[in-house]
Amino acid sequence: MKHTITLIPGDGIGPEVTEAAVRVVEAAGVECEWERMEAGAEVVAKYGTPVPDEVIHSILKNRVALKGPITTPVGVGFPSANVTLRKRLNLYANVRPARTIPGVPSRYDHVDLVIIRENSEDLYSGLEHIVVPGVVESLKIITEAASLRIGRYAFEYAKSHGRRKVTAVHKANIMKLADGLFLECLRRISREFPEIEYEEMIVDATCMNMVMRPERFDVMVMENLYGDILSDLASGLIGGLGFAGSANIGEGGIALFEAVHGSAPDIAGRHIANPIALILSAVMMLRHLGEQAAANRIENAVMKVMAEGKVRTRDMGGDATTDQITDAIIAAL
Ligand code: NAD
Repeated sequence: MKHTITLIPGDGIGPEVTEAAVRVVEAAGVECEWERMEAGAEVVAKYGTPVPDEVIHSILKNRVALKGPITTPVGVGFPSANVTLRKRLNLYANVRPARTIPGVPSRYDHVDLVIIRENSEDLYSGLEHIVVPGVVESLKIITEAASLRIGRYAFEYAKSHGRRKVTAVHKANIMKLADGLFLECLRRISREFPEIEYEEMIVDATCMNMVMRPERFDVMVMENLYGDILSDLASGLIGGLGFAGSANIGEGGIALFEAVHGSAPDIAGRHIANPIALILSAVMMLRHLGEQAAANRIENAVMKVMAEGKVRTRDMGGDATTDQITDAIIAAL
């Protein structure tokens, strides 16, 4: 079956790594029609927004997208394209697995955890205002509906992926109402899944435990901001941002796949970016599309190239280019 997929190359290293992922998917024999869409910092001058309506229409039609990173200005300028995409497509669950890849230099050997990040609310509501000059209020929104929805997604994910434990991460000792509501919803959902162990952990203690004993974690579910921070921490446990893929899942099965990393302006255009994070995001996309065999082949090829350790990009201490590592993965398919 031929899949029509919206492809957003994005900014910075985005076009380099998306091209690598497209080559690998095609080399694995998956029939795809890529609907290329422009979004990101570079299109703002042309369309007045980083996410033109055509991009949204394309994803709504195809129900699946593969996306490169998009640059977001700090402090000023247009709203985040990523937040806009997540909001307009109602992509409420962000799934970020972090698993040790043999051969990739990292501090640990047995990390295998999945962060499920609530993607639609919290401090990302974008509701900020100046109360009086020198005082800013930024609103953290937590709702029962979104907390129950992400809780159910996390437990169902754990169940369908053969996982044994869900850890809810919070700061309900301080934010008694907001994080208290989030926890209360998680407890309610956990009672429907007695076969899955449930635990709660305060976010600061979670950071310490992830750094000291990452193997104790399985599925972790949390609000938006904690998920943003802890998933970068998790990628640091497995060799860095070059290896962390992710899925953004919406209601009705709509899904957008992207790497956890950003547009890396410091190395953009030099063809030295590590494409593996986006290739592993494409593996998640193929599983979502029911292309299990191709997904397994690509994942095994990445593992083989990493285990051999001959071809490595600069972030892994090597000097291979994006194209060279992509060629090695294709040769290993
Ligand atoms: P970043 O992830 O772009 O880069 C952090 C560091 O990691 C840099 O040194 C970079 O060179 C390195 N790095 C990242 N990806 C790499 C790869 N594939 N291979 C090798 N090295 C890699 O984070 P940043 O610098 O904080 O953000 C840059 C821009 O990206 C910002 O505008 C930010 O808003 C945006 N961003 C976008 C997304 C997204 O589109 N989903 C996610 C995060 C950040």
